[in-house]
Amino acid sequence: MSKIHVQKDDLVVVISGKSNYKNAKNYKELKEKNKTGKELYKPAKVLEVSPEEGKVIVEGKNLVTKHVKPKRQGEAGGIVKAEAAMYASKVMHYCEKCEMPVKIGVKIEEDGSKTRVCRKCGTEIGKYGRR
Ligand SMILES: [Zn+2]
Repeated sequence: MSKIHVQKDDLVVVISGKSNYKNAKNYKELKEKNKTGKELYKPAKVLEVSPEEGKVIVEGKNLVTKHVKPKRQGEAGGIVKAEAAMYASKVMHYCEKCEMPVKIGVKIEEDGSKTRVCRKCGTEIGKYGRR
C-alpha cells in the first residue's frame, strides 16, 4: 500500500520552500499573491506516483531540460523540457471549492468505503485507494 497521500490524476499545488502559502491568512490573500507569485499556486495534475521513491511527477512542474537524440530518421532531436520527479511532501491537494491548497481527511461511508475529503469544506476529493 502506498504511503503517498496523492494519487494519479489528483489536482495538486506545489509547495516549495519559497512558497508563502503558510503566511497567507485566507484564500483571498492567497489568490492575490497568486497573481504575482509566479503561478505558484496554480493547480496541476499528478501524472505519476512512485511509492518506492516517495516521489511524484506533476504536470508542468519541476521541469528539467533534457537533450534528446533523434530516435527515428527525420525526427528532430534537441532540447526538450520534461517533468522530473519530486518528493510527495512538496505537494498539497488542491480544493476547487476552497480554491487553495488544503489538507485532506478521510471520511468513512456507511458501506465502509473511504472517501477523501477536503478538511476545510468537506468536498469529496476522490475515493480512497482509487486507481
Ligand atoms: Zn475545500
